[in-house]
Amino acid sequence: MSATTAANLRHDWTLPEVKALFEQPFNDLLFAAQTVHRAHFDANRVQVSTLLSIKTGACPEDCKYCPQSGHYNTGLEKEKLLEVQKVLEAAAEAKAIGSTRFCMGAAWKHPSAKDMPYVLKMVEGVKALGLETCMTLGKLDKEQTQALAEAGLDYYNHNLDTSPEFYGNIITTRTYGERLETLAYVRDSGMKICSGGILGMGESLDDRAGLLIQLANLPEHPESVPINMLVKVKGTPLADEQDVDPFDFIRMLAVARIMMPQSHVRLSAGREAMNEQMQSLAFLAGANSIFYGEKLLTTANPQANKDMELFARLGIKPEEREEHADEVHQAAIEQALVEQRDSKLFYNAAV
Ligand code: SF4
Repeated sequence: MSATTAANLRHDWTLPEVKALFEQPFNDLLFAAQTVHRAHFDANRVQVSTLLSIKTGACPEDCKYCPQSGHYNTGLEKEKLLEVQKVLEAAAEAKAIGSTRFCMGAAWKHPSAKDMPYVLKMVEGVKALGLETCMTLGKLDKEQTQALAEAGLDYYNHNLDTSPEFYGNIITTRTYGERLETLAYVRDSGMKICSGGILGMGESLDDRAGLLIQLANLPEHPESVPINMLVKVKGTPLADEQDVDPFDFIRMLAVARIMMPQSHVRLSAGREAMNEQMQSLAFLAGANSIFYGEKLLTTANPQANKDMELFARLGIKPEEREEHADEVHQAAIEQALVEQRDSKLFYNAAV
């Protein structure tokens, strides 16, 4: 039972207050975060999502951290929108390795009218497999948001990335206001929001605090708050940024947990470079969601096995969705795959 109700969650955080949280002695901060965490969640459960890139590279946006931006030459292999059938097969595999949510990401400024029917089909198909659905497709207009909600999309991911003050140093092709507008459309449509940011882009403590203030002071907290550590990719403008002090990263998770007590805080990009001790500190700070990545979608999945081994050593269990009988799940999976195989709806990039 939650100690804080939605009605008394705070949406009025100030910069001095949040900086004071960050500046506490490390142990005090972790103790406070773990106390808040235990009041709202089973401290030994972690939600597991799988991320699949459904359209890779050649993005017109100029996010300085991103290897998918068409503005930088990172040698990334570009891919067109995946066929619906391929996405559903990947989703079925994700479910088989224990994921409860399937996140589909496309490197777009915004979805085009031509792409929307395929995207909606993906949502419907993944949903039919008994998975929660999440997408990140860039900026949305009201109609697109509504269509996604009606297709059964549970979460929409749209990160704020950093504070409004630092944002212009990282992205110039999309405004902070546009991001907030997309988040407002998502909220109005009844979908859940996944929104967070990135550490290690050269931002100050004020910027880290400023990002969390933006998220927590939204009319409702995002249900999911991914906190990413910059993955430095050669060819991007941030390739040579300084490493973040690992303890500062843990502090960010802890402060996010305290400010948004009922949200899932996701230990997101950069996790694969973290050792087990750091990951366990992240869970202690209140992180309770992780990603299995796209390349991990194989049955012999060493990273997934490694994650499960770490969970076992820490006594952590994956969070479950509300349970359906196994046979019902299996029937749904088979039916969705057959339906899609027979469907004439395949993506034809030439049209
Ligand atoms: S909008 Fe997304 S895919 Fe495109 S450059 Fe920015 S982060 Fe990368």
